[in-house]
Amino acid sequence: MAELRPPIESGAPDPMPYMHPVMVKNYGKWAFHSHPKPGVLYHRAESGDEIWTVKAGTQRQMDHYTIRELADIADQYGDGFVRFTARSNIEYMVADGSKVEPLIKALNDKGYPIGGTANSVSMIAHTQGWLHCDIPGTDASGVVKALMDELYDDFVKCEMPNRVKLSTSCCEINCGGQADIAIIVQHTKPPKINHDLVANVCERPSVVARCPVAAIRPALVNGKPSLEVDEKKCICCGACFPPCPPMQINDPEHSKIAIWVGGKNSNARSKPTFHKLVASGLPNNAPRWPEVAEVVKKILATYKEDGKPWERMIDWIDRIGWPAFFEKTGLPFTKYHIDNWRGGRANLNASAHIRF
Ligand code: SF4
Ligand code: SF4
Repeated sequence: MAELRPPIESGAPDPMPYMHPVMVKNYGKWAFHSHPKPGVLYHRAESGDEIWTVKAGTQRQMDHYTIRELADIADQYGDGFVRFTARSNIEYMVADGSKVEPLIKALNDKGYPIGGTANSVSMIAHTQGWLHCDIPGTDASGVVKALMDELYDDFVKCEMPNRVKLSTSCCEINCGGQADIAIIVQHTKPPKINHDLVANVCERPSVVARCPVAAIRPALVNGKPSLEVDEKKCICCGACFPPCPPMQINDPEHSKIAIWVGGKNSNARSKPTFHKLVASGLPNNAPRWPEVAEVVKKILATYKEDGKPWERMIDWIDRIGWPAFFEKTGLPFTKYHIDNWRGGRANLNASAHIRF
């Protein structure tokens, strides 16, 4: 028999050793699940075993005091097993229903809200922002904290037509995701090039190959190898900035925030969809981003009032139509919302070849 591959440090670890024993025992043999109250899920296995999951919101960026506090709660009030969800919530699993309420109280007493299940607004999936990444045009953790403070009630109550997933993205190109409401940086001016640094810092062929519309060309500036940008072609995406920091695109005034709605990855009830731009040019106004919060709350309030039970955001918009979406939310419709660009096949830089 071939030898087993030795474990490596990268990649997803085997989850079984960390899983609650009831979940390991009944893996793949669950009879049904239900949702007794916001933030609590109940699963019963074919064997008759039961397990309750309590979901609490966290601030995601945590110091070790917070992690120890959450772990102590798991030991004292839970069964000692937790997991973090993709949206930075923490879930406690308990095999005894009588532990649920004391666990909820212990979490609430420490300031952790219980919710984010079923037809609530889930925690915002967020990117690294100023804390960890080298290219963000805005913060992500800060936007999330500011916004979730405003959406607290929508997290702890299940009053939306269906689940609402939000995401942030602090650049236009990388790890922000599809969501019912996505908050994304929007650059509005082409990069300014610091020519003195390009030759020392950048691999020019990689930068040229990065541009999706082939707007960058190698150039000699003041006798030094540098780059130039055809500003008529540039779509201000910011893709040239990560491999070449002298292509400065982040700007306190011209880097704005845009809001996109109607994206989803789920294929339940309707197929996955791409989100679409509904608000642009919002100020990147740290530390509370009030203009962004106002638009998000306006969209959520309209969806809550007008959506039918179990309609996801895009199902609601598909039913009423985009003109009605703009009328009901009161968001201005401008020429920038018209998606009529058909040049992708001819213009998009789909190869790694360098163009001169
Ligand atoms: S979205 Fe962009 S800027 Fe933000 S963390 Fe991801 S790669 Fe960095
Ligand atoms: S990569 Fe994006 S921002 Fe940079 S020049 Fe090309 S289109 Fe403009």
